[in-house]
Amino acid sequence: MTVNADSSISFDSWRDLPAAQQPEYPDPAALRAVTEELAGYPPLVFAGECDQLGDRIAEVAQGRAFLLQGGDCAEAFDQVGADQIRAKLKTLLQMSAVLTYAAAVPVVKVGRIAGQYSKPRSKPTETRDGVTLPTYRGDSVNGAEFTEEARVPDPSRLLRMYNSSAATLNLVRGFTTGGYADLHQVHSWNQDFVRNSAAGQRYEALAREIDNALNFMRACGADPAEFQSVEFYASHEALLLDYEAALTRTDSRSGRLYDVSGHMVWIGERTRQLDGAHIEFASRIQNPIGVKLGPTTTPEEALALIDRLDPERRPGRLTFITRMGADRIRDRLPTLVEKVTASGAPVAWVCDPMHGNTFEAASGHKTRRFDDVLDEVKGFFEVHKGLGTHPGGIHVELTGDDVTECVGGGDEIFVDDLHQRYETACDPRLNRSQSLDLAFLVAEMYRS
Ligand code: PEP
Ligand code: MN
Repeated sequence: MTVNADSSISFDSWRDLPAAQQPEYPDPAALRAVTEELAGYPPLVFAGECDQLGDRIAEVAQGRAFLLQGGDCAEAFDQVGADQIRAKLKTLLQMSAVLTYAAAVPVVKVGRIAGQYSKPRSKPTETRDGVTLPTYRGDSVNGAEFTEEARVPDPSRLLRMYNSSAATLNLVRGFTTGGYADLHQVHSWNQDFVRNSAAGQRYEALAREIDNALNFMRACGADPAEFQSVEFYASHEALLLDYEAALTRTDSRSGRLYDVSGHMVWIGERTRQLDGAHIEFASRIQNPIGVKLGPTTTPEEALALIDRLDPERRPGRLTFITRMGADRIRDRLPTLVEKVTASGAPVAWVCDPMHGNTFEAASGHKTRRFDDVLDEVKGFFEVHKGLGTHPGGIHVELTGDDVTECVGGGDEIFVDDLHQRYETACDPRLNRSQSLDLAFLVAEMYRS
């Protein structure tokens, strides 16, 4: 891959447009030095891999596969240890095994991982005990500590974002191709989990069935290479355009631009303005693109987003990630799906049942009810079933650790438990047991 001067000129078009949610760096020269350094770094992912993910999402858009996208709300620089990354991966692999086996559908596995360091915020400042400071915007921008110094945006954090993403991706690639993700290991992903969780026990029973099926196939002489490694892709919100642009390169095969910071990037609910810099940026790159759609989205906006981001109507290019809230999905989603479908646009529909269901508990913890998450997914399936369209996937915030951030689930977590292990850098995540519970329930919905 080489940087092509011509295409980077037209590529700068986003710089003339309003960009929401960007940090105000005190020293623009320092930012310039950092982005110049980043522009010389090697790609984190390759254009061919992005295209391959596009092909997989095309299957989702055409009703033949299911997208499982999940990971932290915000990754943190002090949480890139091997154990934490492995736990997340294990959770996603277990969810995927449940969905693949119980729903009998190919699962496209995409992490919110190796780049998910930047957060849009609804308020620019935060007040604690009478002190007001700028909000935390993710480790890529400023520090979470509540001090004036930590909250100043620091461009050198973009270099740490790149390095943390590279380290994470390296480990993920090792785990997914080096034998750990071999389907014959379905039991071992569960070993530390089976004894103390109902979801773990339910999973164990399914893993036994998968084992039997694998043994049967092997006895028949079939042990395909596909079982020995797993295709796993990385995604994050393309929020900080200086970073994303520094990592955008011209693919030497096609002469087209790819954002090589991740396989798929998405544009968030707060930055998807049609005349804004984020949509312009996304329209120029060839990666599969996601756009979050909240409850105020009109069908006209959705159709205009399609015209901007997928003028060629290429299946796999565009995924709409709806996040309406459990109480609104049945009301808001049908018209959107109906109008987009009538236009002939081949988008993949994915349900984010997290971001429309956040509330503050009396203790002050930001949380979500497992039942609301589940109800939004149910609504999503009902709407698609009603319209004869394909419920293409789920997009969830989860972790492999036993945190207490969302209430409910099989190993019920109560509001009074939230303080026990509330570790998220931003929004509350499903823990491993809640994630597996969700996978079993989604598999049932998919099948029925
Ligand atoms: C997120 O995915 O963490 C997020 C901020 O989502 P949304 O843009 O849908 O609010
Ligand atoms: Mn979030």
